[in-house]
Amino acid sequence: MNATAPKIAKKLHVVTHGCQMNVYDSARMADILAPLGYTPVDAPEGADMVIMNTCHIRERASDKVFSALGRLRVLKEDTGGQMMIAVTGCVAQAEGEIILKRAPYVDLVVGPQAYHRLPELIAQVHRSQNAAIDTDFPVETKFDHLPEAAAFQGVIANLTIQEGCDKFCSFCVVPYTRGAESSRPAASIIAEAKRMVAQGTREIALLGQNVNAYHGEGLDGSTWSLARLLEELAKIPGLLRLRYTTSHPSDMTEELILAHRDNPALMPFLHLPVQSGSDKILAAMNRKHKADDFRRIVARLREVRPDMAFTSDFIIGHPGETEQDFAATMALVRETGFALAYSFNYSPRPGTPAASLPQIPDEVKNARLYELQAELRRQQDAFNAGTVGLTTKVLFTGTGRYPGQIAGRSLYAQPVVVDSSETLTGQIRHVTITHANPNSLLGTLDNKEIIAA
Ligand code: SAM
Ligand code: SF4
Repeated sequence: MNATAPKIAKKLHVVTHGCQMNVYDSARMADILAPLGYTPVDAPEGADMVIMNTCHIRERASDKVFSALGRLRVLKEDTGGQMMIAVTGCVAQAEGEIILKRAPYVDLVVGPQAYHRLPELIAQVHRSQNAAIDTDFPVETKFDHLPEAAAFQGVIANLTIQEGCDKFCSFCVVPYTRGAESSRPAASIIAEAKRMVAQGTREIALLGQNVNAYHGEGLDGSTWSLARLLEELAKIPGLLRLRYTTSHPSDMTEELILAHRDNPALMPFLHLPVQSGSDKILAAMNRKHKADDFRRIVARLREVRPDMAFTSDFIIGHPGETEQDFAATMALVRETGFALAYSFNYSPRPGTPAASLPQIPDEVKNARLYELQAELRRQQDAFNAGTVGLTTKVLFTGTGRYPGQIAGRSLYAQPVVVDSSETLTGQIRHVTITHANPNSLLGTLDNKEIIAA
């Protein structure tokens, strides 16, 4: 498109399924399409373009895509076929041609590594009136093509620093849909973080499928670890808080553990998926860590940073899981004590090694998952209840759901709501917690003093 050509206003609706990385990618796609005149809208009705950014991690997540596409087809017909429908994300990568066969009204199928080509692909569809598909893993990365000025994401925002995975866990599609592990150079991450802070972002979560395996080119040309990158990011004035997700236990180095002690911007909160408490199942999962490795990491982090809290992911009913294996998972959960955790029934994914093994019956998986989730819910409630009466630092992000309320996040990312009409967005204040709801905390503003970190 000619840079001086007048832009015709067009409506873009993006639907995001799945992980935080998809949330980040959706925002980037909106940024890439902004120069073409696309403005984000909240509903698909009447949109010129609808992007479905999809997740393939579990079967139910993939199934959602086709039922949602069926609904979009009706809306497309209402526009006389003018609405352009794009399927992006991991289902696009994994199912490519199948999507166009099952849903021939889809115009574009674009894998996670090809988003930067969206403008070119849209032009191709307009020119040829045929659907376009791009699921290549190109040599140049999409990060090289991000627009300089991106839309403000909020006081708390995500920044992708690493993509793909080389670990090949037996159950997981990520190495197939997101490709080989690759780390973004520190210079481009730092430049993006500075832009975000200039727009008002105060907390950044660094994202990667395997974020603690980060090994990008540093500012001095050497290879930087995640701990080194975090150290540099903490120097950005106005960037008050840092987090990173998702980590793999076998990449949890002593250097990174010590960063939780030495880097004042780094939150005392870690998402560390363990998946199972049984060494036999961890080996079957090709996880490359044992249950005791996880225990050691948790203990060491609590030693260097006593207020550390943990979240995790669990898969129940991986092929081969016996009652004894499940009991080992429950034992690990009870002894660790989580602030929060995500747990899923194992879902066979086509093309992954565990999918071809004999499967555990659904009723067995369901019963185990129910027991695990009851324990995790109890731990989450206890963790939240444990904050009542304590004074904690809250980063305010805006107004609450009801008039006269403002809301923010605790050190542990818990939503905190306070009765106040002050404008504190972007500031950290002390709040005394008065009440714990299942998924949020209520509190009172303790003082009017602004805390720097
Ligand atoms: N890289 C992270 C790690 O190593 O733990 C996890 C990334 S994955 C996108 C997020 C979570 O989805 C995993 O931790 C796992 O618990 C869950 N998951 C992945 N594949 C799954 C499957 N086939 N069935 C059920 N849950 C699955
Ligand atoms: Fe999937 Fe995480 Fe294993 Fe990589 S390390 S294969 S992303 S579960």
